[in-house]
Amino acid sequence: MLTLDAFARKTYDSAHLPPSPFGCDVHTHTLESRHAYSTIGECVAAAKAAGLELLGSTDHYSSMLYPVPRDERQYLRNYQYFINFEMWPRVWDGVYVLHGVEADIVDLDGHLFGWDICLTEGITGKAFRWQQSMKDHLWRGIDYAIASIHNDEFTFGATLAQTTNMYIRALDDPKVLIVGHPGRAGVPFDVDAVLLAAKERGKLIEINEHSFAPHYGARCRTACRQIAERCAELGVMIAISTDAHIACDVGRFDAVQALLEEIHFPRELVATRDAATFIDVLNKAVG
Ligand SMILES: [Zn+2]
Ligand SMILES: [Zn+2]
Repeated sequence: MLTLDAFARKTYDSAHLPPSPFGCDVHTHTLESRHAYSTIGECVAAAKAAGLELLGSTDHYSSMLYPVPRDERQYLRNYQYFINFEMWPRVWDGVYVLHGVEADIVDLDGHLFGWDICLTEGITGKAFRWQQSMKDHLWRGIDYAIASIHNDEFTFGATLAQTTNMYIRALDDPKVLIVGHPGRAGVPFDVDAVLLAAKERGKLIEINEHSFAPHYGARCRTACRQIAERCAELGVMIAISTDAHIACDVGRFDAVQALLEEIHFPRELVATRDAATFIDVLNKAVG
């Protein structure tokens, strides 16, 4: 039964938002992700309302979006959203806008979705002069990728050495800047080894607001907290993000902010604290 109390569970009042404690939100979704509900324009407006300097738009680049087409040539038509980013203003109503993807890790070698999909023609059906993977074709126009696991079936039965190697190999991809929500993925791995591999490459471990949603449970929160604590101890930089799937969640970091305060997380390790810091980290780490 719908009660007035149920309405109070989640409210949004754009006129009375607390200012965001961090300058960037680098993991957000638009309608392109299909289980998300806002346009890029609405996300930018929400970023501005939350006082953000920078918005990273990172829709799912994943097999969860569309069924496998019968003909490989149809793939690009499904994922063509990612080929036209140059249409977006780079500074939109005062907010820096970055072009990203949240790519699924698809195997224990750390490959990312689309690496093995071979393209021979463009969206109009005109033949390419040379074959290329869908990942390479689409990622030319992106600023960075977040590598995440959503479907972990391929990790069942894997050793810790294999899952650790998987994350490290994903970090070796030149466009991957961030390991997405490793505390929530539910795949065990050698935390120190992956954190240090990220540090060595100037890359980032994500602490994700959405992972603290009640439905993920205490185990997920504990795992995320332990990863954050270890990042602080090892001096590993992190990316704070909301993983917003609707504009009104952009720039709202209540749970992560509380956690970082509680564990006295050093602010200089937060790469998303302001736009200049994040862009500097990105320029150094991403090829
Ligand atoms: Zn999603
Ligand atoms: Zn996400």
